[in-house]
Amino acid sequence: MRAHPSTTDLQAQDAAHHMHPFTDEAALAQKGARVIVKGEGVWLTDSDGRRMLDGMSGLWCVNIGHCRAELAEVAAAQMRDLAFSNTFFQTSHPPAIALAAKLAELAPGNLNHVFYSSSGSEANDTNIRLVRHYWACRGKPQKQVIISRKNAYHGSTVGSASLGGMAAMHAQGALPIPGIARIGQPHWYREGGNMTPEDFGKARARELEEAIHRIGPDSVAAFIAEPVQGAGGVIIPPDSYWPEITAICEAHDLLLIVDEVITGFGRTGNWFGSQTFDLKPDIMTIAKGLSSGYMPIGGSMISDEIADVVGQAGDFAHGYTYSGHPVAAAVALANLEILETENLIPRVRNHIGPYLGRTWEGLEDHPLVGRAETCGLMAALALTPDKARRAAFAADEGVVGEICRDRAFANDLVMRHVGDRMIIAPPLTITEEEVDELIRRACKALDETHAILR
Ligand code: PLP
Repeated sequence: MRAHPSTTDLQAQDAAHHMHPFTDEAALAQKGARVIVKGEGVWLTDSDGRRMLDGMSGLWCVNIGHCRAELAEVAAAQMRDLAFSNTFFQTSHPPAIALAAKLAELAPGNLNHVFYSSSGSEANDTNIRLVRHYWACRGKPQKQVIISRKNAYHGSTVGSASLGGMAAMHAQGALPIPGIARIGQPHWYREGGNMTPEDFGKARARELEEAIHRIGPDSVAAFIAEPVQGAGGVIIPPDSYWPEITAICEAHDLLLIVDEVITGFGRTGNWFGSQTFDLKPDIMTIAKGLSSGYMPIGGSMISDEIADVVGQAGDFAHGYTYSGHPVAAAVALANLEILETENLIPRVRNHIGPYLGRTWEGLEDHPLVGRAETCGLMAALALTPDKARRAAFAADEGVVGEICRDRAFANDLVMRHVGDRMIIAPPLTITEEEVDELIRRACKALDETHAILR
């Protein structure tokens, strides 16, 4: 490991010059950032030498685990051969070509084309422009509205944040942009009332049909959703939800955009969440696990039909300098090879996913936990003061999830919270022993939170 300045110096410079994403800067300046200097497998080491179990795979991205030397070597070799070349104006290069072909092989259905970006946000911006352009090419320029869901996360750029349904993001900077409508989320635990999960799932799906009728079917271009809402709190929809949504999209001639930024590349036990939930997307957003976060790269996987229509209409006036960046593409391809040759995805489906499911479920015995759910290697705990009523904590108890997140952090476990939902998504390489350790630390964080509340 390379030498670094002392923790105090790093924290002082960080506070003075570094404006962090989604961070309370005043609180950070007071506490000082925890500075991470090393990663290995599911473990992170901070600048004081303390090891932490990374229950979030960084930001849901480090699917093959931290710091695999093979990927460092691929990046170095590619930088020596061709560190940058663009993909505009009738040029291409081997890594972008090979990765596109591999993605076409892996993606479900006829998603045989990729438009590259450097992130999930950019890819969703591409999707907004692409679906509107597609309908215009088909002689239906009035089909512009994209329907999304409350509490969805599709990114942080102006377009993708507008597409999302995060109230806190829309409260700043005059968002959302026009042309985006939203329906409710399939969050049975918090919003299902007295309905069964199945009835609630259907009712929430039918909101899509109501929205289409309200807006006018001739004006609706697409519906976008994550198979399992990630940043919204790992909201796993009831079984009845997706079949109903799929039928409604087909009946009303709108495109289905499935945002697989978190659920892609093995997270749910298949290459894509679309396979886990039997979805037939017209466009799929990818990023994060595509390179396991080793290089910034994302993209939109696009159906033959859309690619044909748009391709025949001349230039799609859109692109990013780093679309198909050679180093990022080479690293992504090597990452997909590791996922494949090490059988990491069947392992999630058949072994480590069910193992996490069983052990995580045991946390439902904790007095604070109302429900423990998993889908592959994504997991959530709904915290509640009253299990029978699925009640929320009173406002004067503070955000209990935040207390629990801080207790987990103090016990060297990265576990996130969304309100009073605790969430994890560890690397796909996690072992049974490491799952047991994760559960032990999560349980300790819950116990300490419980003690603070009493
Ligand atoms: N879509 C989903 C479902 C995400 O979870 C995220 C990020 O967490 C994004 C899009 C945005 O991706 P990025 O942060 O790479 O821009």
